[in-house]
Amino acid sequence: MNKPKILILGAGYGGIITATRLQKTLSANEAEITLVNKNSYHYQTTWLHENAAGTLHHDRTRIQIKDVINPNKVNFIQDTVVEIKHEEKKVVLEHGELEYDYLVLGLGFESETFGIKGLKEHAFSIASINQAREIKEHIEYTFSKYHTTPADKRDELLTIIVGGAGFTGIEFVGELGNRVPELCKEFDIDREKVRIICVEAAPMVLPGFDPELVEYAVSALEKKGVEFKIGTAIKECTEEGIVVAKGDDVEEIKAATVVWAAGVRGSALVEEAGFETMRGRLKVTEHMRVPGHDNVFIVGDSALIINEEINRPYPPTAQIAIQQGFNVAHNLAVLVRGKGELQEFKPDLKGVLCSLGHDDAIGVAFDKKLTGWSASFMKKMSDNRYLFILGGLGLVLKKGKFNIF
Ligand code: FAD
Ligand code: NAD
Repeated sequence: MNKPKILILGAGYGGIITATRLQKTLSANEAEITLVNKNSYHYQTTWLHENAAGTLHHDRTRIQIKDVINPNKVNFIQDTVVEIKHEEKKVVLEHGELEYDYLVLGLGFESETFGIKGLKEHAFSIASINQAREIKEHIEYTFSKYHTTPADKRDELLTIIVGGAGFTGIEFVGELGNRVPELCKEFDIDREKVRIICVEAAPMVLPGFDPELVEYAVSALEKKGVEFKIGTAIKECTEEGIVVAKGDDVEEIKAATVVWAAGVRGSALVEEAGFETMRGRLKVTEHMRVPGHDNVFIVGDSALIINEEINRPYPPTAQIAIQQGFNVAHNLAVLVRGKGELQEFKPDLKGVLCSLGHDDAIGVAFDKKLTGWSASFMKKMSDNRYLFILGGLGLVLKKGKFNIF
């Protein structure tokens, strides 16, 4: 009898957890499982802001797929997905084509620039290991040019703009707050000359988050030298910097570094497949399937699920993507075996933690508000817990975070 073919696209949180759970659950005789990913490694997207600031080496963030996948159970193909032909149950890769019986889409998120002029051309975004590395290298380069650049052109070299004070923007400026003093020492630059400006369109930092925790974060970050421009929207990005507007007041800020952290969307490939999406995010069924396509599952940031209590989508997070991986692996095993019960997906939110550099954080965990050391400790422990789930104690010891003071 032919074994059913399960094809998992993308080794982000959702995809890699689906693959590793399936390899634990199903025997090699029960299904042919294939995982496709662009790179030979899975990366912890939740640490990319540290790689971008240069406070954590990118090798700590990436985990070789061969180290967590059992090749006797899962066939890993390093390639780029180009097209999903769901009518034909086929996926086109840059270097070939694959057929499937069951498909899991775990292609993650992309930066969303909302059509704002010049952002795609002139701004960086923190969306992959290589993009994070580019930001780190670029900032170091701008600092290195300072002393050899004419005095009237120097200031913008040391100005870093971060668009968006959502969780990504805030975590990134937190890391910059730690990194900039190191860079100043390295390149003989007066710290006072460096500007880190965080621009947020909404009337507050971390819109919608607990106001007391937000106040703590703003005060901690301002002490690290971060300037906030609140209620101010980025309207354009140019080679020289950005144009912002607060009401009718328009201002141009010159900066050699602009990092856009003000929006994400699901993978363009999901909408190009002809499925109905909202910015690449598809409203999945209770079993994480594409409506009308019972053999196609979505995990991670391309899946849209509604929080019925507030009638709004859950934010796309790693926490939810991981839980979806467990759910989809269970449901696939039920379908392959033709026995057991499909489980509905219900997020089990443990809390939200936002780092403000390696030694500080804010958050709510198990219904308790946390700030400072305790929040930072909890965040690191939750990162270590993920590593344990993925690769056991060995992976925690290799890649985990233990610098708890
Ligand atoms: P992703 O992590 O987006 O990974 C997708 C994978 O698919 C990647 O390996 C990619 O290379 C691969 N891929 C993409 N396209 C292709 C293709 N065409 N062909 C082959 N492979 C492809 N969430 C939290 O819960 N807690 C946090 O603390 C947190 N911190 C964050 C910090 C930052 C800086 C950022 C940017 C996000 C953070 N998030 C956090 C959000 C979280 O990272 C995302 O929700 C999560 O990464 C989504 O996981 P995913 O499974 O959808 O896939
Ligand atoms: P986001 O959409 O959550 O925040 C973007 C911010 O940019 C918003 O505050 C928005 O008002 C602002 N903005 C939009 N357009 C703007 C403009 N033109 N000018 C200035 N500001 C503008 O995006 P994100 O922070 O990248 O987060 C993406 C997802 O990842 C979210 O679901 C988030 O919860 C998750 N995440 C979680 C963590 C964590 O849990 N520690 C960390 C990072 C990201």
